[in-house]
Amino acid sequence: MPLPTVKEGGVTSLKERGNLFEIATRQIDKAMKLINIDPDVAQILAQPKNELIVNFPVRMDNGKFVMFKGYRVQHNNILGPYKGGMRYHQEANLDEMKALASWMTYKSALHEIPFGGGKGGIKVDPRQHSKAELERITRRFTAALGSNIGPEYDIPAPDVNTNSQTMVWMMDTYMNIVGTGDRNTVRGVVTGKSVTSGGSHGRAEATGQGVVHCITEWARDRNFNLDGCHVIIQGFGNVGSYAARLLSQKGAVIVGVGDAGGYIANSEGINPHKLGEHVHKTGSVAGYKGAQKIERADFFGLDAHIFVPAALELELGVPEAKALKVKMVVEGANGPTYPEAEDILIGKGIDVIPDILCNSGGVIVSYYEWLQNKRAEQWELDDVLDRLERRMKQTWATVRHYVTVNKTDWRTASYAIGLERLQHCYRERGIFP
Ligand code: NAD
Repeated sequence: MPLPTVKEGGVTSLKERGNLFEIATRQIDKAMKLINIDPDVAQILAQPKNELIVNFPVRMDNGKFVMFKGYRVQHNNILGPYKGGMRYHQEANLDEMKALASWMTYKSALHEIPFGGGKGGIKVDPRQHSKAELERITRRFTAALGSNIGPEYDIPAPDVNTNSQTMVWMMDTYMNIVGTGDRNTVRGVVTGKSVTSGGSHGRAEATGQGVVHCITEWARDRNFNLDGCHVIIQGFGNVGSYAARLLSQKGAVIVGVGDAGGYIANSEGINPHKLGEHVHKTGSVAGYKGAQKIERADFFGLDAHIFVPAALELELGVPEAKALKVKMVVEGANGPTYPEAEDILIGKGIDVIPDILCNSGGVIVSYYEWLQNKRAEQWELDDVLDRLERRMKQTWATVRHYVTVNKTDWRTASYAIGLERLQHCYRERGIFP
């Protein structure tokens, strides 16, 4: 099938980009072949356990009712409760959720987090709604999901266009559904909450921080100096903006940034803190005074050493892979790279560090948040960050070893390790009855 190209100066719709679940399946199949997986286990993992769609009405500010479609896909829970983000996007669809949910299963397995994989969200463009409408949409969605989520069953978290406020609304709604006496025992129904409402210190920056730990480990392995190196970042939301700030602390120079509103570049460097303030005010990196506006096609060809995709899936196709001059692609986003593009990157000697390895900081600290909620504890920031760093480094070393021993790419190695753990568990437990 010919790959779609990105429209001039704009964004290709997700529908035109190809079926994300088929692409995810192709990636995972490669690792399944490598470990010679038991066909019984492969069969179970090939589809999610549950695919839930809810249609629900919400009263708008003008008094009219509007129907919304919400999703929750629960891929696998043999290692622990389903876990994964809630995304609000006008193009949200079931196949996208299935792919994202399955990646969560392998991500948790790879990092030895006792969670399964889930993902969900609402087909909605949040920019078209007031804060009050978003609150009612979130609360009604949570009520529609009812007991299909729960702190021991399925635990949502923030993702694209959702944040700690969204999670606090979900938690509060869920608390009001369970009996009065149980309210405070169910705080862990979601993670990524604000610290005041039971969240963990360090959760907001966790995913960007995890990305930066992987970059640091890679640089150490390659004897590469991060101080003064050039970085380009696509997506300046939670993941991209924290990755930018933390990389600049290591002396890296951010020379290009893009988001849904446009692309900017400055070979002298873009100050991520000032850019963050601009995005906070205007909603996009576009129009930032400290850089020049560039076209999307030119962004990928910028002179840089490291590229961090931190926007949506399937943004890195064949033309982008051909244009990239970097040494390393670190997938802050989930599924940003087409398999055909990855082949080109690897052929050019570029290391592609896969999403399930490097954007896992969020789920790791979500696990710490869930533990804190269970134990009614509040850990100090340094404690959380130390644990995160140890876990990321440990997994990095495990994957690096697997890559070397099996002479495979980083993505296949990361999946293979996760798959072996899942297979081991199925072998021990069997299936019911
Ligand atoms: P976010 O909503 O905070 O930011 C998304 C960013 O992507 C924004 O800057 C937006 O403008 C940009 N964007 C959206 N569509 C775009 C397009 N077509 N072209 C260019 N830029 C575009 O979301 P986030 O939480 O930072 O998530 C970003 C990615 O990271 C997603 O793939 C998400 O699944 C993944 N991820 C997030 C977390 C987390 O903890 N938030 C954890 C793991 C993975």
